[in-house]
Amino acid sequence: MIRDHFRILSVDLAAGRGVIENLQGRDTVAGGSGLAAMLFEKYGRPGQPWDDPEQPLIFAIGPLTGYFPLMSKTVCAFKSPYHDQYAESHGGGRSALSLRFADFDGLVIRGKAPTPSCLSIGSRHLDLKDVHYLWGMDLLKTGKMLRRMYKGSGHRSILRIGPAGENLSAMACINVDTYRHFGRLGCGAVMGAKNLKGIVIMGDGTFPLPEGKDYPRLFAEVHRKMTDTDMMEKYHNVGTPINMAVLNGIRALPIRNLQKTTDPAMEGISGETFARDTLLRNAACAGCPVGCIHIGFVRERFMEENRYLYRQVSYDHEPIFAAGAMLQVTDAFSVLSLLDAVEREGLDVMSAGVALAWATEALEKGVLSTRETLLPFQFGDAKAYIEAVHHLGAASNDFYRLLAQGTSRAAGHYGGGDFACVLGQEMAGYATGEVFFISQALGFRHSHLDAGGYSYDQKSKEPDVDGAVKFLVQDERARVLLTSMVSCLFARGVYGEEILSDCLRSVGYTNLAEGIGRVAGTIQKLRWRARLATGFDPCAVSIPQRFLEIETWKGKLDEAYLAALKTAYGAAILGIAGGEGESDH
Ligand code: SF4
Repeated sequence: MIRDHFRILSVDLAAGRGVIENLQGRDTVAGGSGLAAMLFEKYGRPGQPWDDPEQPLIFAIGPLTGYFPLMSKTVCAFKSPYHDQYAESHGGGRSALSLRFADFDGLVIRGKAPTPSCLSIGSRHLDLKDVHYLWGMDLLKTGKMLRRMYKGSGHRSILRIGPAGENLSAMACINVDTYRHFGRLGCGAVMGAKNLKGIVIMGDGTFPLPEGKDYPRLFAEVHRKMTDTDMMEKYHNVGTPINMAVLNGIRALPIRNLQKTTDPAMEGISGETFARDTLLRNAACAGCPVGCIHIGFVRERFMEENRYLYRQVSYDHEPIFAAGAMLQVTDAFSVLSLLDAVEREGLDVMSAGVALAWATEALEKGVLSTRETLLPFQFGDAKAYIEAVHHLGAASNDFYRLLAQGTSRAAGHYGGGDFACVLGQEMAGYATGEVFFISQALGFRHSHLDAGGYSYDQKSKEPDVDGAVKFLVQDERARVLLTSMVSCLFARGVYGEEILSDCLRSVGYTNLAEGIGRVAGTIQKLRWRARLATGFDPCAVSIPQRFLEIETWKGKLDEAYLAALKTAYGAAILGIAGGEGESDH
């Protein structure tokens, strides 16, 4: 039997104890993004800084987690060190299924552990272990140690941070089961501020599947849609890196700190090149038949011993854009080596790559000197960037400490704001035009996944402020529904509102299934309300000059269109947050 309430484990790190709370709201906020916003309303302290020990670090899964394919993500919510506002980051791996097997809809972590610690939870236990000996250890070695310390079955999920999180970098990620991440907006620093090196979720319980014929029939249909359509092929074969050549071909790939949008040298780091030369294997999040995770190899030679060490490194479009195109590193193996270095530090690769691209141009222009950067790095110099990544993770000096708080902050201090490629946070790998830039700059997560602005740009050539804003609002609403279930967004072509409604009904969430459209609006509003309560002001967002200088296949960027979009989308966001009557829960 499914529950009509949320079962939440609320942990107090200072006391080393937890309580289970049963909260109402399933029919109004569903789970995932909706549940996280509801939990932040309950536990968050909007007026207090992000590193106040009482700020919650929230993990939430959805009503369909464990029941249907690709319902494999967890929503992590927190007050972000990047902008001190409410934020979400999404990750997969085994985290969602482990929470489901541990019988929790959500995990709320408050307080600060007295010493560097690892929290382990399961259906029948909670344990906070002193792991001071792991503090300072790189993220990959930490993973090895935690796997040895916490033996478990396939339903064990390990979340951990690297030195960047310990150093409270606003670019610190939380790594999930090695190849997935809660990547953006600095949730790794929230763990660091709480003295948490790791979180181990033991999925050591069971959950019953619905009885009757409806559920297995629907499951088979959804599974067939996932595996029989071209989705499987598209994401499994070359995967998201296929975008590298496509965007380069239409002059929409950010290259060399967005000085260019196309370059024949990108052939060296195209998805096809990675697949041909570096790909070892594919992997998948738990509960996913697609397996979009591409794992390549890097080879390191130990001269004295005349032997080689092979390391496995995952890659996607975004990491290749950030560690490759933005830094003009055009050799696939060099990009993988750089990604490996970023992973060890526990940095968000998009922010780290874009920040270093800004620093390189600042060095070229004399805005910075090697007194700050410690290294004379240049575009294309992968070896120097590997060292720089270490400095960024370790916050080696005042410059790297400030850069780790965000490129805009460093540019605010040293200069060079005009060419800081920041849209709310360091940009994602699309230079498709006005709608995407506004979508990322104002979007809730400052992510290319908030709404499909990049695809809108590619489909519509003529400026249309009303049409674009309507699209962004509606697309966000549809995605928020998915991130409340919590589905991988790669499945958005399959999980339309009708199928989601059927899925909910088949597992017993009849009320939620009936009100799904209304619920999507409620969640959208709830999230924006939490964001605004923590200080977000769409009018204060500015778009750096560099974005106005680019040329895409459509020609020069239309500055007037960009400004009109910004005003109209900002007003729409304020309208969503202030709208009447849908957020009571
Ligand atoms: S498609 Fe990729 S990211 Fe999405 S659930 Fe499957 S393996 Fe994970």
